[in-house]
Formats: sequence, structure tokens, C-alpha cells
Amino acid sequence: MASVKVAVRVRPFNQRELDMGAKAVIRMDGKKTRIVNLSKTAGDVGFKDFTFDHSYWSFEPSDPDFATQEQVFEELGTEVVASAFEGYNACLFAYGQTGSGKTFTMTGPPDDPGLIPRICEAMFGKMQEEQEDKNYRVDVSYLEIYNEKVRDLLASSNPSGGLRVREHPRQGPYVSDLSHHLVTCYDHVAQLMERGNRARCTAATNMNDTSSRSHAIFTLTFRQAGLGAEGLPCETTSKVHLVDLAGSERADATGATGQRLKEGAHINKSLVTLGSVISALAEKRVGSFVPYRDAVLTWLLKDSLGGNSKTIMVAAISPADCNYSETLSTLRYANRAKNIVNQPTVNEDPNVRLIRELREEIYKLRGLLGEETQPKVLAELQQKEAKEKSLTAEWAEKWRETQAILREQQALGLRKAGRGVVLDSDRPHLVAIDQDDRLSTGVTLYHLNRNGDTVIGAAEGSDIVLPGLEPHHCIVTLKDGIAVLTPKNGYCSVDGLATETSSRISQGSLIGLGRAHVLRYNDPAEAAQLRKEGRVMSRSSLFGGSTSDLNLNVEERELETERRRLAREYEERKRQLDEERRRLEERQREAEEQLRLREEKLEEQRRRIENKKEEELEKVCI
Ligand code: ADP
Ligand code: MG
Repeated sequence: MASVKVAVRVRPFNQRELDMGAKAVIRMDGKKTRIVNLSKTAGDVGFKDFTFDHSYWSFEPSDPDFATQEQVFEELGTEVVASAFEGYNACLFAYGQTGSGKTFTMTGPPDDPGLIPRICEAMFGKMQEEQEDKNYRVDVSYLEIYNEKVRDLLASSNPSGGLRVREHPRQGPYVSDLSHHLVTCYDHVAQLMERGNRARCTAATNMNDTSSRSHAIFTLTFRQAGLGAEGLPCETTSKVHLVDLAGSERADATGATGQRLKEGAHINKSLVTLGSVISALAEKRVGSFVPYRDAVLTWLLKDSLGGNSKTIMVAAISPADCNYSETLSTLRYANRAKNIVNQPTVNEDPNVRLIRELREEIYKLRGLLGEETQPKVLAELQQKEAKEKSLTAEWAEKWRETQAILREQQALGLRKAGRGVVLDSDRPHLVAIDQDDRLSTGVTLYHLNRNGDTVIGAAEGSDIVLPGLEPHHCIVTLKDGIAVLTPKNGYCSVDGLATETSSRISQGSLIGLGRAHVLRYNDPAEAAQLRKEGRVMSRSSLFGGSTSDLNLNVEERELETERRRLAREYEERKRQLDEERRRLEERQREAEEQLRLREEKLEEQRRRIENKKEEELEKVCI
């Protein structure tokens, strides 16, 4: 059981309020927030006090009590991070009228980031620290609720009627067809966040030019797995919802008409329902009806409000007297939310729970084994042990696979370039161009084994399995940054020339295998080096024969082929000569070394003879 934690944050005056000569109506003292009613006649006690888990004074930066983004993160954000690592669901949402500072608190400007970027960064930092003992898998989704319709902020297109919200019998409400993006580092999350924010539907109102008219839910699904004491598997999944709500003001207060008014009504439908849900939960009437399903927002956040989640609400308020009634209503709303009680539970993987329970039973059964063991107990024990072993192996395999995919993904990068999407990798790889199957649409990228052989063929178990090739067609060997193609039993060509012996391949080489397959070899390190040296490779040398053939007539093609053959021969000859030279130099060095040793020996002999001669002479003299 855990109550929803509630924080209030007051922002500085905005330009409009300053221009109006606004007066501050908010005071804060510790956890206490006071709102003063300046329109009361003198002598009246025109104020109301509220107490929250935190009251953040972000009114005047020079004030010693000024609450920075850093402080808000330290006190609220780190709690979200901790909940996720403990295996709990977490939810943090910002409530308040348009222009009160919700987006500032949740997202913040680039030079003073808010809770969402800080939470994501801290999570990846912690994963980095603990990656020795644990494996992680994180995916991100980002949606917007606008006019009661759900829109995927990370998808290239959305159905006109919006995405549908459904309910899973065990896992609760979810948005069907919402895109989930696997992320492996903070930069990747930041890119997605930026993409989603750009896609967010904004419309100007009289109150705040850029403030959003939609509710945005940024969700991290965080899975962690590892081995605990005595090799016991542990795996938990946490959902972290970070929610930036649309403005809570009434539609008429913002001068809205027509379409805007309709928006206002819809925004308020979600917010009014949120209010009713909060009231129903705050009153804690047993068996009372909670109208989650009346609005998309509350339906999707069902678990976060009175369910399985650790939830924090940040109420953003304006300090100005002109917003007195909206601010008071926000404070009342927040005050009610304090009474919501959630039941967070650690979301353990069902298989892992089963393994744990089996182990407990196995321990118990082992305890029963006495001197004269009953065969029934023994049989049961063996059966349970076998089941536990196979479940553990299955679980470990699943995570090994996940990690392999993540590692591959880490080496790969997808980025947008104009209309195109570029698939990048920092490791040497082959890109398959399927010539035979006109219906194939995907692009396949094969990483080459580092410092070793990559076997290509039709045989199962080859590193790269391609249909229609010989079982063991060829091998690509990568050693010290140099790639060599060695044909085994099948037809191979490099840049349009058939080859039967080992051939060096380099950045941009086109490799033909059998009749149907063409692969392009890419070595990002080599390409970077060539770029650095200012070498621009021609189209024909980059794409090889097949592409340039389109533009060249037969004669030119023959000349081109001849030129390339000569160039290859020249390269080969040069390589042989270099090798020969190296061998000769080596031999010369060896001969010189022997000569030196021989000279030393002779010198030694000479010295010995001379000594002897001197001795003899001395003897003769004596
Ligand atoms: P909302 O999302 O609630 O509509 P915003 O977050 O967009 O409101 O804030 C409105 C304006 O107030 C923005 O220009 C924002 O930079 C400014 N602002 C809000 N909160 C703060 C704060 N704590 N410190 C400084 N400026 C703030
Ligand atoms: Mg906003």
C-alpha cells in the first residue's frame, strides 16, 4: 500500500503577468503552500493552506529556497528510477492550467532538462553500472491523446480515427498497434523523445502560445534479468509512465471558439473524468464505482491511479493573482489526490516465479528424504528437479537470445537522411542485394566474424545461410582489418570478375555468389580512412560492374574490365614483390647477424692467441 505522492511547483511570473503588473498570491514554507486571496477586504483572513509531500518554490531564481530542475529530479525523479529497478510500475504526471509549467517540469528546455530526460539518463547510467550482474531490455513508446483519440507520436502515420484502446485480461488496458522502440542507450531515447515532441499537436490559445492542447504519455518498459543467490533466476518488468497533461483550465477561460472549444470540451472530458476518478478513489468507499472507462486518459492510466503502481503527481501553478481561481482549483485537486492509495507489487516474470516455487518444493522434498527413502517421494523429487532444470535452461536461453539481438542492435544505427533511412554499422559487414527474388523487400545486413572466418553457403550451420548456393560456397576471412574472399565449391566474383583463388575485398566491393546473390562489402573503418585521405572512389569502383554496365557501351565495358584486371594484376604483382623484398631483407638481416657473430668469435680467438703469445714471450724473457 502506498499513497500517491503529491508535489506542487510554482513558476516565475511570465511576461504577460509582468506586463499586467500581477501580484504574487502564492507563499511556500517547507511542505506548506499558501494561496492568498488579495480581493478580500482588508482585515479578512483571505488565505488557504495546503500541505503536500513537497512544495517547490521556483518563483525567483535568486531566492535561496529556489527549487531547481536538479532538486525536483533528486527528490521525485530518483524515486521513479528506484521503483523501476525494484520491479515496480511507476507513474509521474504533471497537472495544472495551460502555461503553469507542466512541460517545463516534465521535459524542460535543452539547457535545463526536466524530469523525463533526467530519469531516462539516470536509468541508463544505473544500467551501465550494474551491467556486470544483470541484463536489461528497455523499450519506449510515446502517445498523445487529442480530442479523445490516441495518436502514436513515434509512428510515421496514424489511422484517421486514432488507435484503439483495448483491455488485456491480465495486463489491463493497452493501445493496440502502438509502436514500441527498443533502445540501448540514452542518446537513442533522446532522439525518440525529440521526434515525439515535434509530432505533438500544439495550438495557440490566448493563455500560452506554445502550450500543448493534448495529453502526452511517454512510457518506458523496463525489463531486467539476472541470477540471484544460488543461481536463482530473477526477472522483473516495470512500466514507467511519464505524463504531461493538457491544460486544466475551462475552455471559456481561454477565449476558445469552434474547433478550439471542441478540443477544450474533450480535454476537459479526460480531465473531468480524471477528477471523478481521483474523487472516487480518495473517498475510499469500498465497492464504489470508479469511472476509469469514461475517458481514454483514465482508462490507460488505470493502474497508476489506485492500482499496481508507485505514482507521483506534480501540480504546476502560476504565482499570479489573475490566475487565483484556477490555481486554487489545482491545489484542491492535488489535495484530493493525496488520498489515493495504490497497491504496488513487484512484477516478477511468471516463469521465474514458477522456478522459484519449484526450488522451494525441491528443498522441502529433499528434507523428507530419510534413511529408508520412499520411492514415491524420490520420483516426485526427480520429476520436479527435471522440470526446474528445463525451465531454467529455457529462461537462460531466452535472455541469451535477447542479449545477442541487443548487441547486434547496438552495433547498428538507423538514422534518417532526408526521405531515406540509413542503416549504419560500425563493424565490417555484407549487405545483401536480392536479385533473384523480386518480391523480397527488406534489406539484410550480415556482420562478419571479427578476426576469423565467416562461412557462407546453403548448408545449415553456415554463418550466413543463402539458398541456391553450394553447401560450402566460400569463406570471408577478416584479419587485422583486411578481408579476403576464398571460394570453396561455388562460383564467386569480385566486382564482376570471376575468381577461383583468394581475393582481397575492400570497401564497396561487390561480391557475386552463384547465380542469384550479390553482396556488397562495407568496412566502415576503411571507408573513414579513405575519406580522411580525401580519396573519392568512383561510382564504378564502388558499385562494380553491374551498376556501371548500365551506362557503358560494350567496348568501354571491355576496356573497363581490362583496366580493372590490369589494376588487380598490378596490385597482386606489387604484393608479391613486396613480399619478396621483405623475404630478401629478412635473409640479409640474418646473414649480417651471422657475420657479426663470426667476427666476434674470430676476435675472441685473436685475443686468446695474443695473450698466449705474450705469455710465451714473458717465459722466454725470464
Ligand atoms: P504548460 O506545459 O503547463 O502549459 P510550460 O511548461 O510550457 O507550461 O510553461 C510556460 C512558460 O513558463 C514557458 O515559457 C516556461 O519556460 C516557463 N516556465 C514554467 N515553469 C518554469 C520554471 N519553473 N522556471 C522557469 N520558467 C518556467
Ligand atoms: Mg505543456
